[in-house]
Amino acid sequence: EVRDRGIRDWGLYTPELDHVIHERISLASDMVRALEEGQFELHFQPKVDLKTGKVIACESLLRWLHPERGMLSPGVFIPVAEQSQLIGPIGKWVLFEACRHLRAWQDANLEVVQVAVNVSVVQFELGGLLEQVREAITLYDIDPQSLIIEITESVYARQSKALLQQIHDLHEFGVRLSLDDFGTGYSSLLYLQNYPFDEIKIDMGFVRRIVEDDYSRRIVSTILGISQVMGADSVAEGIERPEVRDVLIDMGCGIGQGYYFSMPLAAEDFQWLLEKHATLPLSVPASTEPTA
Ligand code: C2E
Ligand code: MG
Ligand code: MG
Ligand code: MG
Repeated sequence: EVRDRGIRDWGLYTPELDHVIHERISLASDMVRALEEGQFELHFQPKVDLKTGKVIACESLLRWLHPERGMLSPGVFIPVAEQSQLIGPIGKWVLFEACRHLRAWQDANLEVVQVAVNVSVVQFELGGLLEQVREAITLYDIDPQSLIIEITESVYARQSKALLQQIHDLHEFGVRLSLDDFGTGYSSLLYLQNYPFDEIKIDMGFVRRIVEDDYSRRIVSTILGISQVMGADSVAEGIERPEVRDVLIDMGCGIGQGYYFSMPLAAEDFQWLLEKHATLPLSVPASTEPTA
């Protein structure tokens, strides 16, 4: 592989790097089996109406229950999946699994909601995404508007006409498009104008500092203004404290997500929240038991 040869030519090769490369190769080969043997699982993190605490949507987050390594987070294996192109079949599985759960919740008469899935730019490059979306939505009889596709700003980096076209096709088909981790990547207001995003997710890097840091607060305020101009909803990511939520409400941000409200949950636990019509965060009843 050209990339590996490059590493050696540049004198960057080290035993540690060798270890990293082997680790990636072994993860990649494990991944094929993981799909076949059902080792992947979707967790769901509530997206919450900040004012009422009501669950209005959820984000699907992929987990890999690796037989030897335990639960792996997507930060570890998604890059490997992207490099090996296994993100194609894995991404397709995620899409169908998310729609399958949404159908189950709707069948149980639960007031849901929209389900978001993260889609890698590599999935666009591999092609066939619109067909997959159409297939999943038809199979599970889902309103396209209740599916949200989250895309990070790396879509801009490609500057690809074909990619932009796919995004417009998806939008025309009726699914909602969300710009993930806004503010961290290749943001250009000029590009933004060309993409039909329905939602902008403000990266947690800014959100978590808005109480103490005036600069972050002004950045968030600016992003809220930008989404308003675009006619998009704003979602704040990574809310971990009530003070952050309060500042966001004051600033006019409608929707949020974060550990303060809920961790990403297994499907049964998320369904439980819906059944209870829970408002988040759950209030923990004061214990009446002695804690001895
Ligand atoms: P993301 O889409 O920006 O997802 C948000 C990440 O922040 C999730 O990490 C979530 O668990 C975490 N998070 C949520 N609330 C908080 C909080 O209050 N504090 C902190 N510190 N973290 C919080 P996770 O699940 O590890 O996912 C990481 C990234 O992996 C995701 O970032 C997304 O880019 C990618 N990813 C996850 N699932 C998929 C998938 O099915 N397909 C693809 N292509 N990418 C995925
Ligand atoms: Mg996301
Ligand atoms: Mg994000
Ligand atoms: Mg992220």
